[in-house]
Amino acid sequence: LVQLFRPLDMLGWVYRTVRQGLIDMAAMFELIDTDAEVADAPGAPALVVRRPSVAFEDVVFGYEPERTILHGLSFEVPAGARVAIVGPSGAGKSTIARLLFRFYDPWSGRVTIDGQDIAQVTQASLRAAIGIVPQDSVLFNDTIGYNIGYGRDGATDEEIAAAARDAAIWPFIDRLPEGLNTEVGERGLKLSGGEKQRVAIARTLVKDPPILLLDEATSALDSRTEQDILATLHRVSENRTGLSIAHRLSTIADADEILVMDQGRLAEKGSHTALLRADGLYAEMWRRQQAERRRPGNTPA
Ligand code: ATP
Repeated sequence: LVQLFRPLDMLGWVYRTVRQGLIDMAAMFELIDTDAEVADAPGAPALVVRRPSVAFEDVVFGYEPERTILHGLSFEVPAGARVAIVGPSGAGKSTIARLLFRFYDPWSGRVTIDGQDIAQVTQASLRAAIGIVPQDSVLFNDTIGYNIGYGRDGATDEEIAAAARDAAIWPFIDRLPEGLNTEVGERGLKLSGGEKQRVAIARTLVKDPPILLLDEATSALDSRTEQDILATLHRVSENRTGLSIAHRLSTIADADEILVMDQGRLAEKGSHTALLRADGLYAEMWRRQQAERRRPGNTPA
């Protein structure tokens, strides 16, 4: 299916790069004509989200025909729950996120939101229902207000300021001489990694989606900033369904459920305590990360 992309088409390249990295996919989608390999079914209705549950039902998927990546994956995220996906590199965590956002369709099985097969609803309605907070946010060369309000057409300055407050970036903006009208990006004010993430959180809050997909930062932030941002994310995840792709286990120990992926299969699932007790892959990953944290020179996670 990859051949469907026009190889020399720059936008196609951007699209693929974005898709691969999960970098601000939502934002990029609107910038480029996403002539992707998935299409709306004829006469597809809009997704109607009353209770934002998410389910993978026996999903089989691969990027190339000769290599299966997800081998019949099933799991459920109840409406309002916070579920984390963990596992070794290459286990299929980002692939789950890409399928949920419908960058690809499964070979077999279904992905549903509130009981509706996401392949049968319009892509616009699907993407409106999911907010993504990526690990690395792209800022547009425009004002900080634009970068936040971008989450939803017609957002007012009041709504933008409220979102900035909830994302704890307002004090920073308020100190700028031109406030929300300050230019950012390459040609304007440079933001730190943490500030950029807060802009991404505010952007998602303006969009106000029932489902949040968090791609947790692996690095770039010092641990104090990371803790602050995690606290903000937890607060904004309340009353929403949250799916976090986590690299550091210490950040998701309080999730309602942890899905442990290994080589495209669900190896284990349960709470942090239950998984430690089970003494399997999760417990092993946990012990290893704890040992790394204790090594001299490492900042505590
Ligand atoms: P990490 O923690 O390193 O980000 P992950 O668990 O998120 O890993 P995925 O990105 O989902 O893993 O990748 C799962 C498998 O799919 C890997 O073996 C990867 O090489 C493969 N893969 C990912 N994207 C593509 C692609 N576009 N084409 C072919 N194979 C891919």
